[in-house]
Amino acid sequence: MIEISQLQKKFDDVTVLESINFSVKKGEVVCLVGPSGSGKTTLLRCLNLLETPNQGTVQIGDKRVEFGSKRLSKKAIKDLRSYSGMVFQGFHLFPHKTVMENITEAPLTVKKASKAAVIEDGEKLLKKVGMIEHKDKYPDALSGGQQQRAAIARALMMNPDVMLFDEPTSALDPQLVGEVLRVIEELAKEGQTMVIVTHEMNFAKRVADKVLFMDGGYIVEEGPAKELLENPKEERTREFLQLLG
Ligand code: ATP
Repeated sequence: MIEISQLQKKFDDVTVLESINFSVKKGEVVCLVGPSGSGKTTLLRCLNLLETPNQGTVQIGDKRVEFGSKRLSKKAIKDLRSYSGMVFQGFHLFPHKTVMENITEAPLTVKKASKAAVIEDGEKLLKKVGMIEHKDKYPDALSGGQQQRAAIARALMMNPDVMLFDEPTSALDPQLVGEVLRVIEELAKEGQTMVIVTHEMNFAKRVADKVLFMDGGYIVEEGPAKELLENPKEERTREFLQLLG
């Protein structure tokens, strides 16, 4: 489903990702963990081209994009983006739109789908994330957990092959974290392919098939979730996990 090879990303002349290779199979959940500044968010953003890698290749589904030699066409960027749905740390809902308007915006404008069909899909997804009773509310009338669940529904509306989550619970009050993680776990059970940047190690242990530990712009170690988080092979992974307690 996803195949990343020899990915490199620089900001000016500072290299923040180097020699990144990994793959995600259909239905797999992969968690990216590691210290602050290790490159997790940048890597996730490279998967949907919110950041453009300097070198390497990204293949998602049957779309393969090679970076470095020539400028990417708008079509190549759009094609690759259409495979993924992104959920950000800070929700990023449109403040002047209701929950239903927020989640139906993309399918109505991008896919030009019929309004009745889109609203029907929207209602199904809002039920799934436990938000149907809030469908006509504006984001500022919702808790952070509710906003994030609406943002998840919005990303799902485009039927993405892969969902990308960037620290989806780190802006939430502790009592609201569980409701968002439960929705993501439900998606995992349904076989949704996902790549998740998270600091929630217990969640990663429960939900991930594979964990990648990043440090200093490299993938230091990868392995099955329980194995890597309970018995890491690399000293740097051990140190990081020990610091978390
Ligand atoms: P955190 O857990 O704190 O979110 P992270 O592992 O996700 O950290 P990134 O946000 O990917 O790390 O950052 C990796 C490195 O790239 C950091 O040194 C950061 O300062 C740098 N960086 C990220 N975005 C930019 C940018 N737009 N311009 C310049 N440097 C950047």
